[in-house]
Amino acid sequence: MVKKRLASGKPCEKCEQAEAMLRDRGLWERVDEVLWALEDDPDSPGMKLGRELGVELAPFFVVRDGEGSSVYTSALRLVRDHFPQARGGARRESRPAVPDDLEAVAAELADAPPQRILRWGLERLGADCGIAFSGAEDVVLVDMAARTELPFTTFCLDTGRLHPETYRFIDRVRKHYGIDIQLPSPDPAELEPFVREKGLFSFYDDGHRECCGIRKVAPLRRMLSGLRGWISGQRKDQSPATRADIPVVQDDEGFAGADGRLVKLNPLAGWTSAQVWSYIREHDVPYNELHDRGFISIGCEPCTRPTNPGEHERAGRWWWEDETRRECGLHVPEPANIDGEGI
Ligand code: SF4
Repeated sequence: MVKKRLASGKPCEKCEQAEAMLRDRGLWERVDEVLWALEDDPDSPGMKLGRELGVELAPFFVVRDGEGSSVYTSALRLVRDHFPQARGGARRESRPAVPDDLEAVAAELADAPPQRILRWGLERLGADCGIAFSGAEDVVLVDMAARTELPFTTFCLDTGRLHPETYRFIDRVRKHYGIDIQLPSPDPAELEPFVREKGLFSFYDDGHRECCGIRKVAPLRRMLSGLRGWISGQRKDQSPATRADIPVVQDDEGFAGADGRLVKLNPLAGWTSAQVWSYIREHDVPYNELHDRGFISIGCEPCTRPTNPGEHERAGRWWWEDETRRECGLHVPEPANIDGEGI
């Protein structure tokens, strides 16, 4: 495998993601050697090999077998062609394709039960589809996904600012379902100068956009770049200002997946909080102990507080900001991320 290191000294995100994906599928030990292509050193081993093979992209892989050698610039394609038995791979070969027109699919599935929407996604994307795990809704999705017995991926953004209870909850869910939960975390090269310059609570003064951008949006972007789809627990009634129109399935316009396109599923879009909690009780699903202490929507510790009876469930998130700006940038299109709308 040839990995790139940027002139800044940071490893290329896509290379890191490719390595993580191979590790996740138990294939990393099949990599005989890693050569570094240093962006600022044309004589580094990886740069030389790239020139020899006429490859301009990293990561890339050189596969040698009895028939000679071949070059891959996509880790997913490498897995598909050479290791179809890897986790989720055997099913991948026979999966139905994701149609071009997701609006038609969204219309067809608009009133379907969440389990059917979830199954639609996992049958097509399998382990290339990640459940973004954090709250009550997400563990319901994990429970539903586990019952399909189809492969899927689970991840939780570790901002470094979650409640201790949330970290314990993540571990409990991991053990309860016997699943890996990947924990993408902020890039120290971005986080450290930010904290050095602005301290640990700058969001109370100038809004949460910058901190969420570093601690949530960038790690999410890195995570999604190795997937083809993701599943969120968003519900329409969580925020009349920002979530009223979410479809059950859509092309994600804000992030790119491993092959460019990224499908986003919102199986619980049409559910209410009461339906989520009734599922949790009925199926004995584990939940975050903070819910028993008045927290409804739970994010980072400094930005979440319990809500009072009668308050909207997202009233406890970034409560010092205007309601229309109470999103973290995970569920809004790219242009909005850039100009700050909706974050
Ligand atoms: S929720 Fe608060 S602490 Fe967490 S990433 Fe956003 S601004 Fe930072």
